[in-house]
Amino acid sequence: MKLNSVRLPHHNGSAELETANFRLPEKVIISMSQHGGVPCKPVVDIGAEVKTGQLIGDCEAAISAPIHSSVTGTVTAKTNLINRFGRVHEALVIETVPNQVLCEDLKPPVINSREDFISAVRQSGAVGLGGAGFPTHIKFAYDRKTITIDTLVINGAECEPYITSDYRAFMEDGEKVIDGIRQVMKYLEIGNAVIGIESDKPKAIAKMKVLTASDSNIKVIGLPSAYPQGAEKVLIHNTVGRVVKEGDLPSSVGCIVMNCSTAAFISDYLKTGIPLIKRRVTVDGSIVNKPRNYFIPIGTRVSEILSAADIRVQPDRGLLGGPMMGTSFYDIDTPISKTTNAVLLFSDTKERMQTACIKCGRCVRACSMGLMPTELEHAYDARDAELLKKLHINLCMDCGACSYVCPAKRNIAEKNQLAKAFVREKAAEKH
Ligand code: SF4
Ligand code: SF4
Repeated sequence: MKLNSVRLPHHNGSAELETANFRLPEKVIISMSQHGGVPCKPVVDIGAEVKTGQLIGDCEAAISAPIHSSVTGTVTAKTNLINRFGRVHEALVIETVPNQVLCEDLKPPVINSREDFISAVRQSGAVGLGGAGFPTHIKFAYDRKTITIDTLVINGAECEPYITSDYRAFMEDGEKVIDGIRQVMKYLEIGNAVIGIESDKPKAIAKMKVLTASDSNIKVIGLPSAYPQGAEKVLIHNTVGRVVKEGDLPSSVGCIVMNCSTAAFISDYLKTGIPLIKRRVTVDGSIVNKPRNYFIPIGTRVSEILSAADIRVQPDRGLLGGPMMGTSFYDIDTPISKTTNAVLLFSDTKERMQTACIKCGRCVRACSMGLMPTELEHAYDARDAELLKKLHINLCMDCGACSYVCPAKRNIAEKNQLAKAFVREKAAEKH
């Protein structure tokens, strides 16, 4: 069965340029909430002098990931930020010093077992680098008595316009991607891996095929260039032909999904012990003269990125992430986080003027989850939680394809987010 999808323009002007190192920022603002799950609490106070890679935030909750300083400097303030789910959380402001030094505690982890490996991945602060930000060690810590994983699915689809950070990871760090995959397969005893890459990236596919030529249990699969190819359920369906049911995790069909850049990071961490403190970020958009990927320290503010980006005019709109699933920022001092794969800058952005639905059905034909966005909209407008559940609102993955194709410019995907929150609220009231 072929899933619905939409074709998007790619605008990948940064694809063929090597990743540059971003200069040392003047200060960073490091959020304590950069992952799915429970935010961290700072473990250093105002006035503390911290070194690069030093632990600065942690949490005892199971679903969380520690946070490390991306720079050497002084903690000068604690502040509040609003995360991409609209919740307020703490952040540390660190002013940098010219002499950057690595924290002396950092060393490659000693790994003798699956448990050691999972613990090391937690210590590294790894989260899904494709944008979802789920703590990586939680995906690995499944109960082997009840769950069997036979396939590691590597997400290299990168289906949103402008973003090329995963493509550059394949082109520059393909060996690390493969090493990270092998380490996960070894310690979790997973027999097979598939790497899914959209077929409009033939060089990346060719490179990864060469690198895996002697590994019969790692396959590289070219996928149609269609949005949302990188969504977890879509990727599993299109690479291994399995269907993850509503409410289930990929592990229910024997799969773990991991982003290719996360695999490369794990490889690096196991060799160096340097935690997740910087990442590859695409800087692009209609006003950027020289689109490019940069390795940027986590917590660097957009205002500093802007000053290095060679822009034609001041932006009137900025996004962290892609145009389909990214988050708008309104404060130019918003910092990047572990999940920021792109900073996109635009000007002369047109307002979306909504008009009445003309019942054309395009939104239905665009939805890869087989949902009925118009019906969902009516059910939410009637605040009918039971009907929303019957219409499988929880299958909506906020991909935005329905809004994108709508000729009436209706904000149906956005309404689905409100509808999911409404269903959760109603469920909470019952308990
Ligand atoms: S946002 Fe939800 S309803 Fe709209 S196309 Fe994506 S999955 Fe379907
Ligand atoms: S695409 Fe827009 S106009 Fe067409 S049916 Fe869906 S909501 Fe209505």
